[in-house]
Amino acid sequence: MKTIRLISELQELIDRNKRNHQTVGFVPTMGFLHAGHLSLVEQARKENDIVVMSIFVNPAQFGPGEDFEAYPRDEAYDSKLASEAGVDILFMPNRDEMYPHDGGIQILPGSQATSLCGAKRPGHFDGVLKVVLKLFNIVDPDSSYFGMKDAQQLAIIETFVRDFNLRTKIKRVPTVREKDGLAKSSRNVNLSGEERLVAPVIHQALENGKVLFDQGVSVRKVEKEVAEQITNNSSAQIDYVSLLAYPSLLPYTPEAEEAIIACAVKFEKTRLIDNIIMSTKGEEYVSNDDE
Ligand code: AMP
Repeated sequence: MKTIRLISELQELIDRNKRNHQTVGFVPTMGFLHAGHLSLVEQARKENDIVVMSIFVNPAQFGPGEDFEAYPRDEAYDSKLASEAGVDILFMPNRDEMYPHDGGIQILPGSQATSLCGAKRPGHFDGVLKVVLKLFNIVDPDSSYFGMKDAQQLAIIETFVRDFNLRTKIKRVPTVREKDGLAKSSRNVNLSGEERLVAPVIHQALENGKVLFDQGVSVRKVEKEVAEQITNNSSAQIDYVSLLAYPSLLPYTPEAEEAIIACAVKFEKTRLIDNIIMSTKGEEYVSNDDE
């Protein structure tokens, strides 16, 4: 595995590979790698000649008072995991390399960013789209791999690629969970011992929400039941629990082919998100829709 910190060096290497007709799969991350990230690599490995992973904790997507400073980082361990997982090129730029100057140009997501985390974290998805566009331009990937755990991010990026004719395919990768159901997340390390014990209630509540949804229970009641199950069984504060159509993220109507129950909850030091995606036939979402 080659570790690269400079954009020019990365582009030179990728150009060389492309001249040899090698396909490039891209896995953008913020590091502190876990099995969720590695499943993105695994899928990218199967479908491409070269796998590029980026690790960059993107300041543009953190708001004031959020956890940019406290976001966990461990370059040495990440390098080991990435290399073992079969990453060919690990791109780890520093802040000055990614944002040497700011011309003030903004990329504004549309209606998909007005709910869920978009509503709770103003400017978050502007920052996500900014770094994603930069990374796509730098890496020029044939395919890019994103986790369903960040379902709103994925939906917005799919729209971004379509609306702006970006030349990468977006691949959806299912959420990887701990044995007890908690979605793997770099932020789980900031849970206290007690919080970690009760955190699986998030996934359990979402699963129960799905059962209620399949039984025809109303949207409001499903949201209320999910929120109550979480607050009654943990110290977490609910940031939101919402049932919406997916991937439009518009209010759910029976015409929608898929629905999402998404939630964000705040523990003392960290905020976690999770979701469950359901077909309106009641089958859980499984994989890419374009394959
Ligand atoms: P992050 O480093 O948290 O920005 O995540 C980088 C990528 O990994 C994003 O596409 C995430 O959706 C994905 N990801 C994070 N956690 C998981 C997980 N538990 N399962 C699958 N993908 C994940």
